[in-house]
Amino acid sequence: MTNLEAVATEHDCRPTAPPAAAPDGTELLEPRDVPLGGIRAMSVRRTLPQRARSFVGAWCFLDHYGPDDVALTGGMRVPPHPHTGLQTVSWLFSGEIEHRDSLGTHCLVRPGELNLMTAGHGISHSEDSTPTTTVLHGVQLWTVLPERDRDADPAFDHYVPPVTALDGGEARVFLGSLAGSTSPVPTFSPLVGAEVRLRPGAAHTFAVDPAFEHAVLVDAGAVAVDGTPAPVHHLLYRAPGATTLTLTATGDGEVRVLLIGGLPLGERIVMWWNFIGRDHEEVVAARTQWQAEIADVTGPAPRFGRVTGHADAPLPAPVIPGLRLTPRA
Ligand code: MN
Repeated sequence: MTNLEAVATEHDCRPTAPPAAAPDGTELLEPRDVPLGGIRAMSVRRTLPQRARSFVGAWCFLDHYGPDDVALTGGMRVPPHPHTGLQTVSWLFSGEIEHRDSLGTHCLVRPGELNLMTAGHGISHSEDSTPTTTVLHGVQLWTVLPERDRDADPAFDHYVPPVTALDGGEARVFLGSLAGSTSPVPTFSPLVGAEVRLRPGAAHTFAVDPAFEHAVLVDAGAVAVDGTPAPVHHLLYRAPGATTLTLTATGDGEVRVLLIGGLPLGERIVMWWNFIGRDHEEVVAARTQWQAEIADVTGPAPRFGRVTGHADAPLPAPVIPGLRLTPRA
């Protein structure tokens, strides 16, 4: 998916100073409703980035959507658009999305299957919910490519993680290692990402890397993270330091969460629209290049390539803000 905000805001993302977290190391991040563009706009709940926090490890963007009746929202219709300096992770709970990219990848994104696209120096892709999709429900995450790898070659990885049994639940580990399950998909910094489901009353304690910061996105159910309640649709952050992380299903219903984590990145980035760079000038240059490459769709497209087989024209970039935001302390 894309960042389709009508007014694209530039985010100057810096490592968060430790005092943002409570004494127990947790920090509750509220979702913000963001209407995406389009004729019948679909809306997402964004928990990263936000004022209080830009990163969880290298995870830097988290949109959670649905369950949406696509007959009402129109589903996902995202024409070809560019990315730089990041990876996109599409993870569905329900529905199906058709992905096409400028590497020639054409595949279906299905529930329980990881589709990870590495933008590196530049890529373009399109995403559309399929005609048979009735309910669309899932997440879109981005990871920052660290300084040494941010101009890496673009790539696409598909992986179907096995279902790993937990105490009273199950996990699907799509990136990194958790609960004895390790994803073979390479990452550019140490990361973990998993869907975790718990039955009512269940609790599971995960062994985790104490150097990682973690966060739990609550999709459904009442859940506590190390005893701290995490409300539905919120992201509960937990600072590094502990060797375990315990999830407890505290209500009558089944719990489904996304557990993400990683080694703190410690790098400053600038995020604007679908680009990540290290300064304002870099995202301006990426925008200029994209606009030039889509001005003549039969001409060369050395940076972002061409998506073939999509009916719609590539998405023009919004106007870039004339004023730079004051960097966040
Ligand atoms: Mn995208």
